[in-house]
Amino acid sequence: MAEIRNIAIIAHVDHGKTTLVDRILHQVKLFRDNQEVQELLLDNNDLERERGITILSKNVSVRYKDTKINIIDTPGHSDFGGEVERVLNMANGVLLIVDAFEGPMPQTRFVLQKAIELGLKPIVVVNKVDKENCTPDIAQEKVFDLMFSLDATEEQLDFPTVYGSAKAGWMGPDWQTPTEDFIYLLDTILEHIPATTHKEGTLQMRITSLDYSSYTGRIAVGKVSRGQLIPGAPVSLVKRDGTIVKSVAKECYLFEGLGKEKTKEPVPSGEICAVLGLEGFDIGDTIADIENPEGLKAIQIDEPTMSMM
Ligand code: GDP
Repeated sequence: MAEIRNIAIIAHVDHGKTTLVDRILHQVKLFRDNQEVQELLLDNNDLERERGITILSKNVSVRYKDTKINIIDTPGHSDFGGEVERVLNMANGVLLIVDAFEGPMPQTRFVLQKAIELGLKPIVVVNKVDKENCTPDIAQEKVFDLMFSLDATEEQLDFPTVYGSAKAGWMGPDWQTPTEDFIYLLDTILEHIPATTHKEGTLQMRITSLDYSSYTGRIAVGKVSRGQLIPGAPVSLVKRDGTIVKSVAKECYLFEGLGKEKTKEPVPSGEICAVLGLEGFDIGDTIADIENPEGLKAIQIDEPTMSMM
């Protein structure tokens, strides 16, 4: 089984997240032969709506050197109901994308702070070094200062920095010497972001986010944190208030490229999965073993945020 690395992307709007992910996917050529290559698919839901199932996927995956890298999008600026924390909890590390001209923006501070608090290892991507009069070194220093002010550990402050131009299709160790591809970035991810570890035991999967398909209804997305999720198997659904309802994980999908692929194999711990056919779930619930249901401790949520949901 391929190793899995779950990496969350933190980026201020327009700093180049969509372009970067899109270009990496093109380069790694993981599109299946008959899959149409669309420009900027990450932001394009139309095609996905047509296909019915692969909708609104905020996660994409890249296969590189026998490793599956799940790239997890983080919510923008707000933290409704602890969403940022739940999403970051699936990750083994973060990719912070920063515009070489603008430097880090205050709006990403909150998400970065959460990532630092959770002990995640950052990789900094200074993007758009092709821009005239940009100052990649200053952008990098500002990121360092920001992380320092957020009480990052020494290990976190020792983050690797990758420079490049997502638009021009490269990332390298040095902004003055363009490379020809994203290999350096992918290798940096493999070197610095730990692989997920498999945790034996009874099934636990917290529902982190929700997708919707007009064909099939609501889809529960999350990471299997313990045990394995068997497609079609009856499961318990542990609600946030501790009540338990019985349900069935009718169909399971894994993230492949820009879409989701149905799997009949048990989904191992560490993998991020989309579950179809589950009745009555909410974000924050735990999918657990049918016989021995055990919920994951609810993430602390500020009351005012809750009431806004
Ligand atoms: P997102 O909001 O973070 O997803 O940003 P996008 O990927 O949509 O990019 C925002 C804008 O920046 C678009 O017009 C991109 O073409 C442009 N852009 C992205 N990467 C680069 C880059 O490396 N260099 C330059 N000059 N522009 C870029």
